[in-house]
Amino acid sequence: MTNEANTLPEQITLTQFIIEQQRELPDASGTFTLLLNNIVTACKQISNRVNRGAIVGVLGSADSENIQGEVQKKLDIITHDIMVKALEWGGHVAGMASEETDDPIKIPGHYPRGQYLVLFDPLDGSSNIDNNMTVGTIFSILRCVDGLEPTLEDFLRPGHEQVCAGFVLYGPSTQLILTTGNGVNGFTLDQEIGEFLLTHRNIRIPEDSREFAINMSNQRFWEPPIKRYIDECVAGDSGVRGENFNMRWIASLVAEVYRILTRGGIFLYPQDTRYPSVPGRLRLMYEANPIGFIVEQAGGVCSTGRERILDIQAEKLHQRVPLVLGSKNEVERVIRYYQEADTSFVN
Ligand code: MN
Ligand code: MN
Repeated sequence: MTNEANTLPEQITLTQFIIEQQRELPDASGTFTLLLNNIVTACKQISNRVNRGAIVGVLGSADSENIQGEVQKKLDIITHDIMVKALEWGGHVAGMASEETDDPIKIPGHYPRGQYLVLFDPLDGSSNIDNNMTVGTIFSILRCVDGLEPTLEDFLRPGHEQVCAGFVLYGPSTQLILTTGNGVNGFTLDQEIGEFLLTHRNIRIPEDSREFAINMSNQRFWEPPIKRYIDECVAGDSGVRGENFNMRWIASLVAEVYRILTRGGIFLYPQDTRYPSVPGRLRLMYEANPIGFIVEQAGGVCSTGRERILDIQAEKLHQRVPLVLGSKNEVERVIRYYQEADTSFVN
């Protein structure tokens, strides 16, 4: 007779994984684990709503706009509310910021305030939701300077100060991608037991890739270094690269980044000459920073083309940035093209 315990596959839950990681840190408190647990609880609820979709009447527009002037989907508002409700009561959070509200969100006075700031995009890729495409929740965690009511300045920290970043992907399976500054790990939600299980240990982005992702319809508005890079990719084995490239475009940041984490590639959302006053499309604090932390922790590079994303000193909560990220050698090539263009311009 076989011993059943010996034949069970090793299953490490997210909670176990985080607690075991925390034990290695000398000054770890259990607070962070509890905070992460609350984020994860919110994401399980969001996963359930996204999955049930039209059955529970959550698809479609909400007839309102957010701070960026984007039409809100019903699910943008529902997921924002789920995140706020899951985080405000626990006593671990000093304040929150969301893509969906103009100003930082205060913790109601009857709850204790903790030492972390959580910034989130409650539903990334939400314009895809009615097409049943992959969407996600992105979050960034900062330590708050002191235990007082945080000011806007407390939120505007450079991305390299993040203590944790992650995103949850609501795709064919629900997955959590997480870093606490010690590599990147992936967890898959086991819907039957309601737990995230460690399925992708120490994710690494291949340094080389022959796959790019960019919105080609904006081509005529690109800056010269981006145009040069993409022209060379498109020229394939008849051009200077001497190799053929492939293209992907999902228009959902979380889905693009997950593909790059899985098999490499480069994603570009550059600044566009159409709107000189708008530096790119994606938001620094709750998109580029957490994604940048994850990409770097997986061995990739995340840049504006001219500057490391994680070194940007934010000026506004909803600040936009150009974004170029992915396989190290490809992103570094784009950075080199910017340097060459900028120095030839000066000379
Ligand atoms: Mn987004
Ligand atoms: Mn969003």
